[in-house]
Amino acid sequence: MIKKQHKDHERAGQGAALYGGRDAFMTSSLEAVVERFQLDGASFYEYDEKTGLLRLRLRHASGVSFEHEENLRPGPGSAAARALASMQPVSSKGPAGRFLYSPFRFDYCDPGGGRGVVPCFGLVRMERSPRRRGFTAAESARADAYLRSYLQDYYKSEFFALHRKYDKNVSAITELSEVFATALRVSDSFRHILAGIQSFFGFDRVRLYLIDEPNRKLKGELSADIRGQIKSISYEEIPLEPGAHRFADIVLGKSSGAFMERYKDCVLYMPLAVQGVTIGLLIVDNLLSQQRIEPQELAMLKSFAGQIALAVDNSRLFDKVEELSLYDELTKLPLRRYFNQRFQEEFYRAERFKQPLALVWADIDYFKEVNDTYGHQIGDKVLRETGRVILSNLRKIDFPCRYGGDEIIILLPQATGEEARRLAQRLSQELGELRIPVPFSKAKELRVTLSIGVSTFPQDAASMEALLQKADDALYWVKSHGRAGIALYSDTVAQEAKAGAPGGNENGDK
Ligand code: GH3
Ligand code: MG
Repeated sequence: MIKKQHKDHERAGQGAALYGGRDAFMTSSLEAVVERFQLDGASFYEYDEKTGLLRLRLRHASGVSFEHEENLRPGPGSAAARALASMQPVSSKGPAGRFLYSPFRFDYCDPGGGRGVVPCFGLVRMERSPRRRGFTAAESARADAYLRSYLQDYYKSEFFALHRKYDKNVSAITELSEVFATALRVSDSFRHILAGIQSFFGFDRVRLYLIDEPNRKLKGELSADIRGQIKSISYEEIPLEPGAHRFADIVLGKSSGAFMERYKDCVLYMPLAVQGVTIGLLIVDNLLSQQRIEPQELAMLKSFAGQIALAVDNSRLFDKVEELSLYDELTKLPLRRYFNQRFQEEFYRAERFKQPLALVWADIDYFKEVNDTYGHQIGDKVLRETGRVILSNLRKIDFPCRYGGDEIIILLPQATGEEARRLAQRLSQELGELRIPVPFSKAKELRVTLSIGVSTFPQDAASMEALLQKADDALYWVKSHGRAGIALYSDTVAQEAKAGAPGGNENGDK
């Protein structure tokens, strides 16, 4: 029973000590050895092979531990010198007391110092007052073995802690790589890149700046903060000239040699380069929490530098290529630019020939949640399926468009509100019947719903802008009435406005 208590106490001490690094660990081993062998004190000396000095680092006596800084040169033939030379325990007896020198050598991982694995060579001096009994050979051997096993446990736990960290890093690498790979195709890729870095590394803040070569500027793009909020920092512009700003100097100066620079341990600047050309600057910091950026994190981020730069560069390129195209890769629907042109033509025709024109504005419900829960690949699949359902249900003269994100607008020439509603119902129904399999998830499959707003010319609006606005109002009406539905502007928003107050709405606004 007593023994068990002793063990538990030891383990608890060891656990806490591991957390606090080498000195805390040594303190706990001194405490343990003092208690186990009824010592009056124990001291931990570090041996510096270069100078031949023994440095007293810690001492535990009368239930108290102290830190010490005291150098001692072991005389030739002294017990300490013999212990170090033989790596065997050596006991001695003198007027100051009875001592047992137990030498050891081990490696420890320096959690704070950034030096990685550090060898530790030294000895523990176990002490009894002159009045007490000395150390027998058997006791010396036991005390020495005890101390060594304690140190070995330390080594092992360090190893496992490192191993766990390594495992965690490997899974982070896999997930982050996926983020980078999918980021190539989506319009808000920078967001994913930043959010990925921020959440995997847990930095307080991540900021991205890109070089605007024609204007010789470093331009702010996005910032991800500690709550995962992403904000534009496009208001930040730094002239790309030496001396203009620290950021500019880093980008200009480091394109060839060392590409990382640390500032006060809490901020890390990482120029992003592709094939030797610097394209931007990533800045991560822990300024809020004042936590130093650990060497392991630095190494991890460094190993990602190339991938991040490539992902950033690719999305830039992707945007450029997309600009030249009229169709969206994912949904196969025409893009907004193409739509604007067609909308003008159709509107003109409707006005001129006094024909109706309906506008259907659809938005996927909780799409962000789909991305967040199942990942962007599933999100993309939802978009693809939506595009497919829409394309297979339209007449030749109808014109759909991926208006942006998860919003789709369909232009229905010569269609009344009722006809538009029927189409919207068909789309909703067909999409509602879809089951999108989601691997590795409890839900197994995913269902998608649309919110749809409809406006018609000439009933609801007399101009293109107003027609768009009314469809958007109707969509908003559905979103605020439980989603997964269809609203005609004339049946909903217009009715409510009429019912609200004659000559204005219920707030009395004009
Ligand atoms: P609501 O029901 O109110 O519409 O909620 P929501 O979650 O759908 O919100 P919102 O329409 O604002 O979300 C649009 C999301 O669409 C945000 C963006 O991350 C995501 N998105 C935009 N383009 C793409 C894309 O090409 N692929 C994927 N997977 N996601 C995209
Ligand atoms: Mg949506």
